[in-house]
Amino acid sequence: MRVGICGGGIGGLAAAIGLVSLGHDVEVFERSPDLRATGAGLNLWPNAVRALYGLGLREPYDRIAVKLDRYLGYAPDGKLLFEKDTSGWPAKYGAPSTGVYRLALNTMLADAYGADRIRYGSEVVSVENKADTAVCHFSGGESFEADVIIGADGINSAIRTQLIGGVKFRPNEHHAFRFRSVIDLDLVDVDPAAQTGIYTPGGWLSVIPIGGGKAYWFGSVSGARNVDEFIAYFASWDRTHIPRTISLTPRDSIVESPLLDVDGTPYTWTQGRVTLLGDAAHPMMPDLAQGASQTFLDALALRDVFAETGDVDEALRRYEAIRRPAANYVVERSKKGSYLGKHRVDPVAFRYEDEIEAVGKDEHVPA
Ligand SMILES: Cc1cc2nc3c(=O)[nH]c(=O)nc-3n(C[C@H](O)[C@H](O)[C@H](O)COP(=O)(O)OP(=O)(O)OC[C@H]3O[C@@H](n4cnc5c(N)ncnc54)[C@H](O)[C@@H]3O)c2cc1C
Repeated sequence: MRVGICGGGIGGLAAAIGLVSLGHDVEVFERSPDLRATGAGLNLWPNAVRALYGLGLREPYDRIAVKLDRYLGYAPDGKLLFEKDTSGWPAKYGAPSTGVYRLALNTMLADAYGADRIRYGSEVVSVENKADTAVCHFSGGESFEADVIIGADGINSAIRTQLIGGVKFRPNEHHAFRFRSVIDLDLVDVDPAAQTGIYTPGGWLSVIPIGGGKAYWFGSVSGARNVDEFIAYFASWDRTHIPRTISLTPRDSIVESPLLDVDGTPYTWTQGRVTLLGDAAHPMMPDLAQGASQTFLDALALRDVFAETGDVDEALRRYEAIRRPAANYVVERSKKGSYLGKHRVDPVAFRYEDEIEAVGKDEHVPA
């Protein structure tokens, strides 16, 4: 079977790895001119890590990721707000919660697929279904015809917009931006085996180790419209590590991401021989930190349905039946907001156990 994957992010590459392992002929088209990773770090939970293990990536993933044994939350005066021990999660859930450097993760996935095989500089502008094939068209005028086309082109998916629609975005009223960067772990005064956050209802900043001696910090301030306003909020927090951590972070390395509330979900992921995967299929707010996890679960499910049947229509039907309800459940849960946000939900490590593991919706049993 010939497969075209539009988007060489973590989802496109994970899907390619799964389908290549079945012996399929898979081409990955990425619009960037080379391997990039937007953002800085990721918290990948046991469900994501199990999916990566399922895709045969246990050894390379364990090499680049850091196991998180604790989630700690403090007030700016040093008072402990919450503590969650996650050191037993590998025994309980089959995998640890982890921190990982995005670039290391993308590089690992690219290497597992074959970094020199990725067709960089290929921007997909449209897709088209034919009788028994599908075609993607590129901005340079070329086309690629395959038995299946997978739209893994991210949260603003052109393929979703063209074929299906159903998703609208609007600015989040409370926390409009998230700011993040990477710094040497030994420059930050935090537990190196924990995610450590310092929280007030108006603003927060969390640090997570991500391997290679690096730490990823990310935070948000209600009403802050730019990095200067974000930094100014923490100026008086001199009983915490935050002013120093920010001052040691190169200013031009701080990434500013608008946080968009998502209205609606695609009514289907599949049109003919084209289906969606990852953020293209289930754009969500990052408050549950589940976007990448759900993306890896998509890739695993796609591999498993094609392992069971060579009938493309049947495989895509099963893939969507397994994944769309499960992912949409997480999309809805992600709308509840963040700890100390408007709805005062529990810290994410508690929510992960209660809303993801306890419910078991992310596991799939191919029909
Ligand atoms: C601030 C923030 C923090 C987050 N933190 C976490 C976290 O801690 N844990 C977690 O699980 N998730 C987290 N996420 C979500 C996670 O980043 C995404 O869910 C994940 O990257 C989705 O992978 P993807 O491959 O679907 O999309 P992407 O990673 O966006 O990749 C899409 C790829 O497609 C390419 N592309 C786009 N359009 C085209 C086109 N027309 N033609 C060809 N190529 C194209 C892009 O260049 C890109 O390489 C976070 C997201 C944000 C914004």
